[in-house]
Amino acid sequence: MSTPENASTVATTEIEFRKALDAVYENIAVAAERAGRDPRDIRLLPVSKTVTAERMRAAFAAGMTAFGENKVQEAERKAEAMSDLGAHWAIIGPLQSNKTRNVAEFAHEFQALDRIRIARRLDNQLKEFDRTLDVFVQVNASGEETKSGIEPGEVEEFLEQLQEFENLQVKGLMTMALHSDDEVVIRENFAMLRALRDDISRRRPELIGDGELSMGMSSDYMIAIEEGATVVRVGSAIFGEREYSN
Ligand SMILES: *Cc1c(COP(=O)(O)O)cnc(C)c1O
Repeated sequence: MSTPENASTVATTEIEFRKALDAVYENIAVAAERAGRDPRDIRLLPVSKTVTAERMRAAFAAGMTAFGENKVQEAERKAEAMSDLGAHWAIIGPLQSNKTRNVAEFAHEFQALDRIRIARRLDNQLKEFDRTLDVFVQVNASGEETKSGIEPGEVEEFLEQLQEFENLQVKGLMTMALHSDDEVVIRENFAMLRALRDDISRRRPELIGDGELSMGMSSDYMIAIEEGATVVRVGSAIFGEREYSN
């Protein structure tokens, strides 16, 4: 079985979050073992979109010191509300040009880079703030029209263009698998990203930083780990189903 069970109860307290976290780390260890990998090479990025800052404080106390958010305003609001904790903030969703300044000011990581114009703005603004930002290039590995991300055949050229931006630190590639129940298709998407990374790392290692692979969400992170993920972005399996009403 490769699809992990979601947390059955919605965690609110530190103890409950510790349990939820342990369950995810257990799955990470199982998947890593299957692939003959060291589980310590896999970073869990808890995705806290729609989760309140109050619950996130309990999650932090349970050991989650980094958070992924897909909306800049929501992330910024929470970063402010939790500024005493010194958490690590990752923006994992698409970024509009009128939000780059906010990201440059407070975020540590941006995982959905797929436009040079955005990269240039970020780099300029980061220089103003005397900050750097870790970035992942988002790749459309599924070939789906609606998915954002660079086409696989254009990734190398995009990475070349990123080289001029000194305050952006390229870490690797990110993708979202096709939304599908078909494990074979999902696995193919992930394997494709890994092959792309391997190819670029071999021929042009200077372009791709540590060659990290951010892939896998609650429904497919074990598959992603088996296919080489170094970062998994897990939301509902830790925090429960999202409530978009608040
Ligand atoms: C919401 C989100 C996730 C986490 O999704 P879950 O299915 O809740 O784990 C991962 N990556 C991105 C880019 C997201 O927007």
